[in-house]
Amino acid sequence: MPLVRQVIADLRETVAALHGELTRYGLVMWTAGNVSARVPGEDLMVIKPSGVAYDQLTADTIVVTDLHGELVEGDLSPSSDTAAHGYVYRHMPEVGGVVHTHSAYATAWAARGEPIPCVLTMMADEFGGEVPVGPFALIGDDSIGRGIVETLRDSRSPAVLMRNHGPFTIGSDARAAVKAAVMVEDVARTVHIAHQLGSPTGIGQDDIDSLYVRYRTVYGQA
Ligand SMILES: [Zn+2]
Repeated sequence: MPLVRQVIADLRETVAALHGELTRYGLVMWTAGNVSARVPGEDLMVIKPSGVAYDQLTADTIVVTDLHGELVEGDLSPSSDTAAHGYVYRHMPEVGGVVHTHSAYATAWAARGEPIPCVLTMMADEFGGEVPVGPFALIGDDSIGRGIVETLRDSRSPAVLMRNHGPFTIGSDARAAVKAAVMVEDVARTVHIAHQLGSPTGIGQDDIDSLYVRYRTVYGQA
């Protein structure tokens, strides 16, 4: 099998399996939500098909499209969010994975149009500051993708809360984008609870900066 064929086959397996993380962490209802991965070095991505139940998502059902959302390989129609994913890949070359969910707490912040303030050290670690809100955008053209890129381009955050819609997350690969989707729901929930009982206290910018840098350079296994 030529190398790119093998890479695509592996990514279809990976992306199918990563959709299982969305259900495992309770981030999705019914068929909402999607994960995609860029095919490195190609103008291609692999992404969830539209309207397929999570327990029926296998590598065979995952589709391959170009970065404008045109189907290249697969028997099913790509996710209705494919245009947004493709826009992100076309405009952010460092991004290798994109995830979208309507996870409840993160989407509740999006419904209020309110960024999640950086009041937890794990937020400084993972997001490098607040989780920003992106513009209101309708599905059907480039406006969701444009809103994601315009918001995240100038932010350390790998997550954006698209107004009245929900979170989109990015990563160097699909697994990193899924991790950001799990983490943004976790902090959205915790900070929501903190808000209900009082006013969470912020973290100073210097401390946010040092946490963010330390997490990238020191944390984890060498
Ligand atoms: Zn959506």
